Amino acid sequence: MKYISTRGSAPVLPFGEAMMTGLARDGGLYVPETIPQMTHDEIAALAGLPYGDVAFRVMWPYLGDTFTETEFRGLIAKAYEGFGHAARAPLVQIGADHFLLELFHGPTLAFKDFAMQLIGQMMQATLAKSGQRITIVGATSGDTGSAAIEAFRGLANVDVFILFPHGRVSEVQRRQMTTPTESNVHAIAMDGDFDDCQARVKDMFNDFDFRDGVRLAGVNSINWARVLAQVVYYFTAAVSLGAPHRKVDFTVPTGNFGDIFAGYIARRMGLPIGRLIVATNQNDILDRALKTGEYRPDGVRPSISPSMDIQVSSNFERALFDAYGRDGAAVAQLMAELKTGGFSISQGAAEMLRETFASGSCSEEETSATIKLTHEATGEVLCPHSAVGVHVAESHLGGAPMVTLATAHPAKFPDAVEAAMGVRPALPPRMADMFDRAERMTRLPNDLAKLQAHIRANIAERTAN
Ligand SMILES: *Cc1c(COP(=O)(O)O)cnc(C)c1O
Repeated sequence: MKYISTRGSAPVLPFGEAMMTGLARDGGLYVPETIPQMTHDEIAALAGLPYGDVAFRVMWPYLGDTFTETEFRGLIAKAYEGFGHAARAPLVQIGADHFLLELFHGPTLAFKDFAMQLIGQMMQATLAKSGQRITIVGATSGDTGSAAIEAFRGLANVDVFILFPHGRVSEVQRRQMTTPTESNVHAIAMDGDFDDCQARVKDMFNDFDFRDGVRLAGVNSINWARVLAQVVYYFTAAVSLGAPHRKVDFTVPTGNFGDIFAGYIARRMGLPIGRLIVATNQNDILDRALKTGEYRPDGVRPSISPSMDIQVSSNFERALFDAYGRDGAAVAQLMAELKTGGFSISQGAAEMLRETFASGSCSEEETSATIKLTHEATGEVLCPHSAVGVHVAESHLGGAPMVTLATAHPAKFPDAVEAAMGVRPALPPRMADMFDRAERMTRLPNDLAKLQAHIRANIAERTAN
């Protein structure tokens, strides 16, 4: 399997190199040249299999010769062994035809663990073969950073630097990034919002001297390997609700379009997904873009679902690439226009997107009310992101069973949950000591040169020891 860039002018790479690289050298995102298909019978045969076996069957066709079958099965097993639920991604029923897919049983209590734990195993195995070292730099709205640190802490050949927007992540999110004691973990509180953090990381990837000098590797949600790991739970959920014999709809709380794009890939592989519904918070650019065809960022408004406070939605580029008939030059043109304010999606592309994706948004008040009402009606405690999903799903019920992705554990956002329903959700016992541990982070301005100097200095110090 070969990987091509959405902007059409970067080297074509095999899976392993696309994974280690993250962002393509033309600024684009890697996508598989073709989408492997699963037949009706192959999907039916997934029923009743353990999560790891489904993961192997869904992902294997994408890997080429990066790992042997036995190696890859071993990496999957290790990636998910630390999850706090045997099913990995259990389904819970919250309405007559409405189910919640709980994706928060991993070590940092958000769905990011599904991808990050696996990419951590895969990168480690790759480095062990080559003997090389890498520097991981990632931007986070809170959950990617903690998941990446958890996956890479203590590895000899890896330094991990995470930029998070100062003052804009929850205390639990921050502590998950600042309390690990391993010297290869570097948390950076940057002045700015998530879009600023993400932009500086992209700048580092586009500075080829820096990129090659520190051997930069990307684990942000633009990394194809992360999208791929998220395709798996669409299969486990749909099959346990009757696929491939009946259709299933999914609602996905999203900001960077990563998780929902994984659902789109599952659908293109042959999984009978009826509708894919994009759920946004008050930062509703994706909802507006899908409805009007106009993609125009107008500033991030901080919300109680901070992991979705995004206006520049990176993975949307992958959907645009397909909607424009895989025309890399057309996508490059749109992304150039985005730098100067925004772009209009062509009528044909907008129609193609609307055939696949429906959308809705959820205000702050609606998010809180959904947490309260869902708890009263079902006993289930939602995190604010999952509540955005449940609210939007409720106006799209009917027809097929609906699965809403529950993307984080409520205890990761205790203030918002307590304000909504009057009870403070407790952390699982295995992380209850988090508030007693010392924090370690560096505060830096939104300044590329200063960030790069900090990264270079820390790597030099560690490799000298
Ligand atoms: C990252 C995140 C999201 C949004 O994920 P996308 O990659 O934008 O789809 C939603 N909820 C939580 C809790 C997250 O951490």
